[in-house]
Amino acid sequence: MNLCDYNTIRDLLARHGFHFSKSMGQNFLIDPEVPRRIAEASGADAGCGVLEIGPGIGPLTAELAQRAGKVVAVELDRALLPVLAETMAPYPNVEVVPGDVLKLDLTAITAEKFQGLTPIVCANLPYNVTSPILEKLVESPCFTAFTVMIQREVARRLCAPQGSSEGGSFSLFLQYYMKPELLFDVPPEKFLPAPKVTSAVIRCVRRERPAVDVADESFFFKVMRGGFLLRRKTLANSLSAALPGIPKESIQQAIADMGLPAAVRGEQLTLEDFAALSAALGREAD
Ligand code: SAM
Repeated sequence: MNLCDYNTIRDLLARHGFHFSKSMGQNFLIDPEVPRRIAEASGADAGCGVLEIGPGIGPLTAELAQRAGKVVAVELDRALLPVLAETMAPYPNVEVVPGDVLKLDLTAITAEKFQGLTPIVCANLPYNVTSPILEKLVESPCFTAFTVMIQREVARRLCAPQGSSEGGSFSLFLQYYMKPELLFDVPPEKFLPAPKVTSAVIRCVRRERPAVDVADESFFFKVMRGGFLLRRKTLANSLSAALPGIPKESIQQAIADMGLPAAVRGEQLTLEDFAALSAALGREAD
């Protein structure tokens, strides 16, 4: 069955009485070339166990099943389960797990279902919950890599060079653990229904160790997020709002000691800069 053919999809969904849900970010792929390229880019092979988030009716799942040792596809919408039972019937290495990916224990699922395989993630993500899903994937060290389609604007931000105004604290958080790469754009007309914005596929590969050495990770993240708290203000003002326990003069001094201008903004700092700043401010907080 061609799971990207418009008439096939329409007949299949009508037969199962399925209606699209906007709140579940349901935009299904209708060009077979796109799931093929995403699956190819994921690097899935016989040695991989692939976690897919949101299989929909299964076009990407089918491509992954033809490459990977096993595919576990987590789908929130129970109305899609009978559809998937039909479309995934030819693929014995696909297991559909009903549920909300944000609530499932992915480490336990991976350990149980991917024994002897390298766990990776590949998905066309629901856009309304992209950030919490990515955060969860980054914080699940069992995944060595993930290849996901997200909104292009978000993709660009996540892959932005450190210290450029395009990025944010989430970009730095991601880049602390992963090496992201922007792969290709996918225009709205490749989906049913068509979303309002262009999408893009990114691939993130886990670093062997975080990008910078920090003594106190939770304080480092506090300083990094604090640096972006008031985006239109200077780094000193933003940090003094985020860290009320540290005198503003000490923050200004630490910034000056790093050789940065007084008017510098958080977005101009790299992970190295935030590591140095949090080390200096950590001594102040002691
Ligand atoms: N993979 C399909 C495709 O490319 O055509 C569908 C992608 S669609 C953008 C997102 C899918 O994620 C939908 O099937 C939706 O029901 C599912 N979904 C939404 N929120 C979810 C969640 N929290 N956990 C698991 N699946 C979710």
